[in-house]
Amino acid sequence: MFVADRTTLAQFLIEECRRLPDAAELPPVILDVALACKRIAKAVALGSLGETQGVAGTVNIQGETQKKLDVISNDIFRSSTEWGGHVAAIASEEMDHSCPIPDHYPRGRYLLVYDPLDGSSNIEVNVAVGSIFSVLEAPAAGRPVEDSDFLQPGTRQVAAGYALYGPATELVLTIGNGVHGFTLDPQLGEFILTRPAIKVPEETREFAINASNSRFWEQPVKRYVEECLAGSTGPRDKDFNMRWIASLVAEVHRILMRGGVFLYPRDSKQPLKAGRLRLLYEANPVAFIMEQAGAAATTGKERLLAVEPTSLHQRIPLIFGSRTEVDRIERYHHEDAPQQIDTPLFNSRGLFRANV
Ligand code: MN
Ligand code: MN
Repeated sequence: MFVADRTTLAQFLIEECRRLPDAAELPPVILDVALACKRIAKAVALGSLGETQGVAGTVNIQGETQKKLDVISNDIFRSSTEWGGHVAAIASEEMDHSCPIPDHYPRGRYLLVYDPLDGSSNIEVNVAVGSIFSVLEAPAAGRPVEDSDFLQPGTRQVAAGYALYGPATELVLTIGNGVHGFTLDPQLGEFILTRPAIKVPEETREFAINASNSRFWEQPVKRYVEECLAGSTGPRDKDFNMRWIASLVAEVHRILMRGGVFLYPRDSKQPLKAGRLRLLYEANPVAFIMEQAGAAATTGKERLLAVEPTSLHQRIPLIFGSRTEVDRIERYHHEDAPQQIDTPLFNSRGLFRANV
């Protein structure tokens, strides 16, 4: 088929937003994000030739060492999206606080929050990385945008998506009308609609979790994983496979394409941090995409999109994927709740086991 027969991202957005009420200003925002992703794809694809690998010598607000490409990707996102007049402020994994767009540009109606380079520890080993973004409504004009304006539950997202820089560059998007995937045609420089109306299979035999943390897991997660590992000899009566790419975007993409479940649950490794992944620019956009693709996302105890954020860089336990598995894991959390009594005498290693 000639490329001329295919739908571009711009055509898709303009046609979809024509049908939605009050969405006319959304296509330019998403197209600017798409441009940022194309620029980042180009930087990533140069690999060691680009002199962009290695550490930047700085640390972000979360205490993580920034790679050069983290900083470059953040600058690319910012400069690609701040000029258009449709965004009021941006927030990023790599910036301590939100940032209003410069005064010489008109202020728009949206807030943009993003993880400019997800999975950046995979850069040196040439494994897939990505970018994740979420679009929210800005407060009415008349006062400066503050960090607290970004603290909206995921149900209020207007759009969300990610780019995956793998063997091909793909952009996956929802504006609340299902999930749609686009592949970058590098000659044309356009994202072309290649996966319309993605649906996650309800049943799966694949799970993804960082098993090196297993001694820190809570009982419901231990139970779920033990049952998967027991396979056809256990209560699940079927064998499972395990996957772990250590790049959230790549895990999301695999689960969208062929089902599966991903867990980065609450654990006791760092008791002050509720989870590993960040609510506003990792968990919320992923959860919006999952629900729009017929799958589910939870903290273990509640629907992820219902969580009321309390800070810009808040971490959250995140479990998402095929609906039947997510429902089961949530059920285990509710069933096993009494076992989390916080007294050493009654936990599973105490004198009196709470659940014998
Ligand atoms: Mn990330
Ligand atoms: Mn990142």
